[in-house]
Amino acid sequence: MSHVIHRSLAQVPLVAVGGKGVALFDQAGKAYLDASGGAAVSCLGHGHPDVLAAMHRQLDQLAYAHTSFFTTEVQEALADHLVAHAPAGMTEVYFVSGGSEAVEAALKMARQYFVEIGQPERTHFVARRQSYHGNTLGALAVGGNEWRRKQFAPILMDVGRVAPAYEYRDRRDGESQPAYVARLLAEIDAQFQALGPDKVIAFVAEPVVGATLGAVAAPAGYWQGLRALCDRYGILLIADEVMCGMGRTGSLHAVEQEGISPDLMTIAKGLGGGYQPIGAVLAQHKIVDAMRRGSGMFQHGHTYIGHAMAAAAALAVQQVIQRDQLLPQVLARGAYLQKQLHARFDAHPHVGDIRGRGLFWGVELVQDRSSKATFDPAFKLHAKVKAQAIAHGLLCYPMGGTIDGLHGDHVLLAPPFISSEAELDQVVERLGDAIDKVLAQQPVAA
Ligand SMILES: *Cc1c(COP(=O)(O)O)cnc(C)c1O
Repeated sequence: MSHVIHRSLAQVPLVAVGGKGVALFDQAGKAYLDASGGAAVSCLGHGHPDVLAAMHRQLDQLAYAHTSFFTTEVQEALADHLVAHAPAGMTEVYFVSGGSEAVEAALKMARQYFVEIGQPERTHFVARRQSYHGNTLGALAVGGNEWRRKQFAPILMDVGRVAPAYEYRDRRDGESQPAYVARLLAEIDAQFQALGPDKVIAFVAEPVVGATLGAVAAPAGYWQGLRALCDRYGILLIADEVMCGMGRTGSLHAVEQEGISPDLMTIAKGLGGGYQPIGAVLAQHKIVDAMRRGSGMFQHGHTYIGHAMAAAAALAVQQVIQRDQLLPQVLARGAYLQKQLHARFDAHPHVGDIRGRGLFWGVELVQDRSSKATFDPAFKLHAKVKAQAIAHGLLCYPMGGTIDGLHGDHVLLAPPFISSEAELDQVVERLGDAIDKVLAQQPVAA
C-alpha cells in the first residue's frame, strides 16, 4: 500500500535503492542498464564522485538562501559558466527548478520584452504539432502533444499550430529536401500572417524533438530559414533544449549544429544530470536590457529559483563534461551507437526509421516498412517493449502516438555520456531482444 500518487495509479513502480555509473539497482538487487537516463537526464550516469563531492561541499556551506535577499557564489559561477559557452549574444541566465518552469519563464519573458519595448499588441505564440514543452498550463498550451493536452485543452491558451519537421513521414514522394523545408517554412509564414505578424510574440520549438517524436532533428536549412522568418517580423525564436541540450546531441547546445542563435533558450534535464532539480532560461542581451532599462525587473519568480544546492550540482556536472572532454566522446560513442543500431535493425521488418544525433537516438517501429503503416494502437506496442526491456534489465523510453498522439510507436535512447562501447552493445542487444520478444506475440496483421 502506497500513499504516493504515482504516475500510474494501477501499480506501484519498482523501488530504486542505488545507482552507479550506467546502472540502477532495485530493492531485489536487480541491475538495470540505464539507456534512457530517466528522460535524457542522467548524462553522467549515477553516483558520479566529483558531483557528489561538490554537493557535499555546498551542503556544508549553505543549502538555500531566498533570492529576494541574496545571490550565492555558486549561482553566479554557474551563470558565468553557461554564458561563457552559450550561443552568440546570450549573456544572461534565469535559474528555475526544471523544464516546465523554464518554458513558463521563457514565455513570460518574451511577453514582457514586448510590453517593455512598446509592442503590447503581441499576444500570440506559434508552435508545432507533436512537440513537448512541459506539463504546466502555459507549457502544455504551447506543446503539441495531443495525448498529453487532450483533456486540458478547454482550459489552455490558444496557440498557432504548424507541422513538425518530420521528414521520415512528411516529406512527399518526389519532393526534394529543400522543397520540403520551403513548404514547412511557408506554412509557418502563413500562420504568422493569419495571426498578424505584429501580433505574434514568439515561435517555440525543440531543435531535436525528444519524447514525442523520438529524437527527430529538422532537415538542413529549416532552422536558418526559421531564424530569418522570425527576424523579418520581429518575432522571437525560443529554442526548447530542455531534453536535447547540454551535450546530448554532441554539441553543448543543439542549435550550434544549425548555425543559429535563438532569442531565448530553455535548458534543464542534462543541466543538473538528475543530481538536483534545476532548469534555466538563457536570454539574448537585448531582452534583459529592455527589462533593465524599462521596469527594472522580470515580473516572475518562484521560491526555489537559484537554489544553491541545485546550482552546485549543475556546475559540477558541467565542469566534469568540460574537464573530461565528454562532448567529443558523445560524438564518438554516438557514431558507434548509430552503427550498432543500423547493424541490428537495418534488415528488421518492423523498424521503419533510425534517427538521432550524438547519444540521442530514436527507433520508429512500423507494422510494414514500405507503407510505413503503424501497429494497432490497441496492441500498445510501446508499453509492451518498455516492460519487456525492463525484464531484460534495460531502461529505455518507448512512446506511442508518434504521428498524431494515437498512432505510431518509437523507442528513445539517451544513454549516459560515460557509456562504454561494450555497454552500448548491451543496450542494442537487449533492445533488439525485447522488441523481438514482443513482436513474436503480435496479432496476425489483417
Ligand atoms: C521534459 C521536457 C520539458 C519539461 O521539463 P520538466 O522538467 O519535466 O518540467 C520541456 N520541454 C522539453 C523539450 C522536454 O523534453
